[in-house]
Amino acid sequence: MGNKLMVVIPCYNEEEVLSETARRLTLKMQELTQKGLCDKDSRVLLVDDGSKDGTWQLIHALHKENPLFEGLKLSRNRGHQNALLAGLMTARVHCDFSISMDADLQDDMDAMDRFIAEYQDGCDIVYGVRNKRDSDTFMKRHTALTFYRLMKGLGVDITYNHADYRLMSRRALDALAEFREVNLFLRGLAPLVGFQSGYVYYDRSERFAGKSKYPFKKMLAFAIDGITSFSVKPLRFITMLGLVVFLVSLLMLLYTLIAFIVGHTVTGWTSTIASIWLVGGIQLLSLGVIGEYIGKIYNESKRRPRFIIDRYLNEKNADPVKDE
Ligand code: UDP
Ligand code: MG
Repeated sequence: MGNKLMVVIPCYNEEEVLSETARRLTLKMQELTQKGLCDKDSRVLLVDDGSKDGTWQLIHALHKENPLFEGLKLSRNRGHQNALLAGLMTARVHCDFSISMDADLQDDMDAMDRFIAEYQDGCDIVYGVRNKRDSDTFMKRHTALTFYRLMKGLGVDITYNHADYRLMSRRALDALAEFREVNLFLRGLAPLVGFQSGYVYYDRSERFAGKSKYPFKKMLAFAIDGITSFSVKPLRFITMLGLVVFLVSLLMLLYTLIAFIVGHTVTGWTSTIASIWLVGGIQLLSLGVIGEYIGKIYNESKRRPRFIIDRYLNEKNADPVKDE
């Protein structure tokens, strides 16, 4: 088992934190090498996800200064998950195991020792799980909790309070490469990869500087993507709903017939209007859910590349990998 580590960090407009992240990572990587937890030629891969600020220039400067830092520039902004995948797929051919983390120092670097200990014990995937969510805003904490509960309820296997702070061995990365889906939700895919897995608990701190790149709108899109990529239960729910509405309509038919025979046919405006709105609403909602899935099929069937690499800064002039 080799010991070359590659830390993969997606960065989008992170010029405010990147220098500090780099400073701390340099020290941490030195410590890990000294302890014999990873090889000397281990690297940190900074993935620039089409930033609009000086992030890429910073990555360039870091790489020039210290070969520990490698840079990967995507051709445009593709979002956190795609940027992370681009980094992991590059790491796959250059290291023995990878650890992914965010650029904003929210993930406690000192947990890496424990990640590697689990890896050396034979785990192929180690999930970083946060102890508590004190550092998050009230809204983020509660929307996240609702999301996890919903996912569990829909039968999707994800680890509670695990984001994308995760160790993956080369074997696990190779397996991940086999998943060809365009709608990416990596924390849902990792459990599908399987292999022996471990968990490391850590305290998540606040973002060191800058603003979150996940506003509510993006978070909601991410949640819908996560659910519709891994569960078809919403479709089943629509079927059940349709069945219930159909049964109710049979009763209504009976009721209207009896009312007709008895001769009370003029009243009933309220019930007519109410049922038009109710059934109309249910139908629109159901069509929307079905539309979500059709949209997914549409996107998947085009098989567009999930990321395109502009440049890869590394010592050995290795070529960037392609998203096959
Ligand atoms: N990120 C990215 N592309 C994007 C949005 C975010 O690469 O389009 C990166 C970002 O630089 C950070 C990580 O994804 O390293 C997590 O983002 P952020 O910290 O803003 O999310 P939060 O912690 O608030 O959920
Ligand atoms: Mg963050």
